[in-house]
Amino acid sequence: MKKWLSSISNKMFLGYAAILTTTLITSFPLISTNNEVENKVRTFVQQTLPKLGTIRSISSDLKQLELNAYSLYGYTMSSSEYNAQSTMKTEAIRRELEQISSDNTILNQYFNTFAIHLADIHKTMTLKPVNWDVARKHLVDLSTTSDAMLKQIDHLTETLAISAQKNSDSIINKMSIAANLLFILVAIIFAVAITAYIFSCKKIARPIKELSLAASRIAKGDFKTGIIINSTDEIGQLAETFNHMQVGITKREERILKHAHYDYLTGFANSVLMTDRVTSAISQTNRVYSKFSLILLNLKYFEDINNAFGHAHGDAVIKEVAKRILNHVRDSDSIARINSDKFLILLEDSNDVSAAHYTSALIKRLSESIEIDATSITLSVCSGIVSYPGNGSDAVDLLRQAHLAMDQAKQSFSEVAVFDSSSDHCHIRQLSIIRDLRKAVESEQLILHYQPKVDAKNNKLFGVEALIRWVHPELGFMPPDEFIPIAERSGNISLITYWVLKKAIKQCRSWNGQNIKIKMSVNLSAIDLLDKALPEYILSLLNEHQVHPSQLVLEITESTVLRDTDLALQLLNELKDAGINLSIDDYGTDFSSLAKLRELPVHELKIDKSFVMNMLDNENDTVIVKSTIDLGHNMGLRVTAEGVEDQATLTLLNELGCDEIQGYYISKPLSTSDFSIWVNSYNQEPRDQEAVSPS
Ligand code: C2E
Ligand code: CA
Ligand code: CA
Repeated sequence: MKKWLSSISNKMFLGYAAILTTTLITSFPLISTNNEVENKVRTFVQQTLPKLGTIRSISSDLKQLELNAYSLYGYTMSSSEYNAQSTMKTEAIRRELEQISSDNTILNQYFNTFAIHLADIHKTMTLKPVNWDVARKHLVDLSTTSDAMLKQIDHLTETLAISAQKNSDSIINKMSIAANLLFILVAIIFAVAITAYIFSCKKIARPIKELSLAASRIAKGDFKTGIIINSTDEIGQLAETFNHMQVGITKREERILKHAHYDYLTGFANSVLMTDRVTSAISQTNRVYSKFSLILLNLKYFEDINNAFGHAHGDAVIKEVAKRILNHVRDSDSIARINSDKFLILLEDSNDVSAAHYTSALIKRLSESIEIDATSITLSVCSGIVSYPGNGSDAVDLLRQAHLAMDQAKQSFSEVAVFDSSSDHCHIRQLSIIRDLRKAVESEQLILHYQPKVDAKNNKLFGVEALIRWVHPELGFMPPDEFIPIAERSGNISLITYWVLKKAIKQCRSWNGQNIKIKMSVNLSAIDLLDKALPEYILSLLNEHQVHPSQLVLEITESTVLRDTDLALQLLNELKDAGINLSIDDYGTDFSSLAKLRELPVHELKIDKSFVMNMLDNENDTVIVKSTIDLGHNMGLRVTAEGVEDQATLTLLNELGCDEIQGYYISKPLSTSDFSIWVNSYNQEPRDQEAVSPS
């Protein structure tokens, strides 16, 4: 483009240069006319001006001589001075007369007479006595001659002026002719130049218009129509470049289209193209009353293969898998690689049962070891199957269901899972939960129930555990076991934790005011222990509601703490240092290192209800409960048993030395109002001392 523009400006520059040259050439005669006029003026000035000077000089000399004569006559000038002056001036006048006109005889004659009168005056005045009449007569004659000469000189000056006038008129004439001529010439040249310019512009504009049309064609996606410009100049070259560019773009577009629809590694369709194919298969199936299945295959741990052996190795594995799938399928089936480790097969004329058989055989083949660079790799493959008609109504829905089936296979450690519509409802329910969580927190759909914890020895109310409940406007009552894990997975748990802490601490203050001074246990999730802002938030709440930190117990599960020990430990120590109690919840459900458990700054160990509930019937559980109580005591911790549902269990726990009891036997989790009723009836039983005495 730059080149092209510079070529145009070059052309314009050349055009203007041509106009200038033509102007110079055509104005040459005018220049010569001007020279001629100038020469004439110069000659005229050279000739006339000295003459005028001489004439002026003669006039003044004559007057001077005449004046001298009068001075001599009046005796104001001596005779010798008059003589000297007359001689000198006379000679000067004679020379001057020669200069102005050698053949001007009249003036010469006058001057001779004048000279005679000059001499006569001198002669008369030098005679003694002076004849004054003669002298006066000579003076008059002198003046007359002088007047005559001056007249003649005036005439001569006039002649010169006329000739000067004539000369200047002719010069002006010549000049105006020249100017007119110049104007006409310039006008002609200008007209020619403008015409030439318009012509040349048109000549440039036409191909440019061609190029502009081509550019808009390209912009509209027409890369086929070429540009024909028959010139070899820059515009021609530009057109050629445009044509090359079009070819290049066409090729690239083809490549991009290929990449947009096909997987570069296997050459199979990608998810975009496969979605189209599934859509076509749905309409085809609807027309001819046939059926098809989608098989989603997932190479489990493929990321580990990539990480361990490198991506080149991973690519080789994918290629081998593709080859095996290709050998297995029929021509009528479609294959796609929809993700790095996922393949999708569209199996024509198939249902869940036949697809499951087919998939099992394929997975068997895919699970055979793959040898790459002397490394043997055995893949683990799982799959999800969905069939049409019967399940989803469109491609997106069917693919989603195939994924759900595949997840199910993964969770159940099986190779093949056929889509089950009940899991779809479950999935949709999960999505609603995620969607509505924030609203639930903001609009009082969440409530806290409180489950009492009592002293095992004297049944005294020791504290409560705050347990969240959600009454969903559409889904109804929802237990925390359902939505808490979803909130954790979707990154919304801190919303809940902050809400619970606020409610629970507020409730604690309220009970304090009613002289119910008990501990308040609140459950934390794993992600909460990575929230550096949490301690400050809790302390500000405690401060705001004037609740002593020792009244708050934070329950954390073993796995939570042990997953990210350093960070969690730091946060737990911060909370402990602030005077807050910490409790290990669900103890026994996770395999945890005792050494690490020792490092935790906790006050309490809560034995999981799964051991407590069956301990009367299951000896193993009894052993676990007993050893946990001993371990807790050895570590200086209080031990709580949750899930106590009957007196026998309570008695056994008491015997084993358990410190606190929580369970349906004491009370189910209660709403605030129910808790008030409960606490009143419970308080009727005798007690020895206050449960908690916050300092
Ligand atoms: P968890 O912390 O182990 O809470 C104890 C669970 O056992 C409660 O279930 C309680 O109702 C139940 N339970 C107590 N005693 C008995 C009994 O004698 N028999 C039986 N069968 N069950 C008993 P819930 O309220 O359904 O809570 C389930 C779990 O949800 C809790 O287990 C806890 O992990 C979680 N959760 C509840 N509230 C919150 C919360 O505010 N935040 C967090 N992060 N998790 C919470
Ligand atoms: Ca708990
Ligand atoms: Ca528990």
